[in-house]
Amino acid sequence: MNEFQHLAVPEVQGLDPYQPGKPESELERELGLSNIVKLASNENSLGPSPQVIRQIQGCGINLSRYPDGNGTELKAELARRMAIQPSQVTLGNGSSDVLEIIARTFLTAGSEAVFSEFAFAMYSIFVQVTGATARIARALEPSSVMPYGHDLEAMYGLVNDKTRVVFIANPNNPTGTYLSSDRLLGFVTSLPEEVICVVDEAYFEYVEKEDFPNTMEWVERFPNLVVTRTFSKAFGLAGLRIGYGVSDTRVANLLNRVRQPFNTNSLALDAALTALADENHIQVSRKANAEGLCFLLERLAEMRLNVIPSVGNFVCVDVQRSGAEVFADLLKQGVIVRPLAGYRMPNHIRVTVGTPRENKRFLAELRKVL
Ligand SMILES: *Cc1c(COP(=O)(O)O)cnc(C)c1O
Repeated sequence: MNEFQHLAVPEVQGLDPYQPGKPESELERELGLSNIVKLASNENSLGPSPQVIRQIQGCGINLSRYPDGNGTELKAELARRMAIQPSQVTLGNGSSDVLEIIARTFLTAGSEAVFSEFAFAMYSIFVQVTGATARIARALEPSSVMPYGHDLEAMYGLVNDKTRVVFIANPNNPTGTYLSSDRLLGFVTSLPEEVICVVDEAYFEYVEKEDFPNTMEWVERFPNLVVTRTFSKAFGLAGLRIGYGVSDTRVANLLNRVRQPFNTNSLALDAALTALADENHIQVSRKANAEGLCFLLERLAEMRLNVIPSVGNFVCVDVQRSGAEVFADLLKQGVIVRPLAGYRMPNHIRVTVGTPRENKRFLAELRKVL
């Protein structure tokens, strides 16, 4: 029993902590294994751009100085690339920081936030801490074309005059499902302007679908729309912690009041600029991911395992038995994946697309375990 439990505010007492993927170093210590394969956190298996690595090694950043609290250069470059104003960008210590800032800016006890069943787990945590009520829409049926995906009609059905924020993950993690431009635009258009619509595009750079939305073109038209993206996934900079939100300037100004003045660090600000400039690395990463995903899907189909169609750099597999057990068995073999019981998907595991060698190793160990 934790004797401090009763001291925490009620909103915190009811929280379940986010379960991060197990780090390789920890498993190495626990099991004395080497050559561990980590496919648990949807990081870029190719790592960051080589230019970023060179730059960090040689950089002359003065670590005794506070970072540029306004992130002026990075905001200017992002704005230039997306044809928006720098004042529309909110930088964060990862995009989860931006998501939390949105929750703290717009939610309080008595208000409501809407998101989907099987949506990214952090939404629930960020909403709960504010004291607001989470209204969770049932997802699409496992038999639908987008199994376990967001059901926009069901989400819309939960919007009422207490709703302040709607969270949409596109594509969603852990399911890998996505919403087409038409469907999402219809939803955003139908939402009352008093409801902040967050579209979390953490895997944007990986998506190759023709009908995937270009939400940056919508921000002008919908002042209640906030699009978040990150350098943690395709850019391969998860360890540095940097992401951003794009919105109407008036919304960005509010987020700026809540954000800590130095929520992004000097190294991350610099690295993100270099990462943006290396467009080749993103292209190479996208191509490698498409091939890896295709390979995994083929082999998993041969094993007669159902997978949810994914447009991200990960895939959700129905292992037809306890995902927690399969996770634990794979762990003993030195392969780290993600069990999804916390998402109420007890028979699924989520596996990140790795390098060809990592993918083969995962499949070989999975065959043994099953
Ligand atoms: C990984 C992820 C994020 C955020 O990651 P950060 O490292 O905080 O940028 C946000 N949303 C989804 C759906 C994710 O999978």
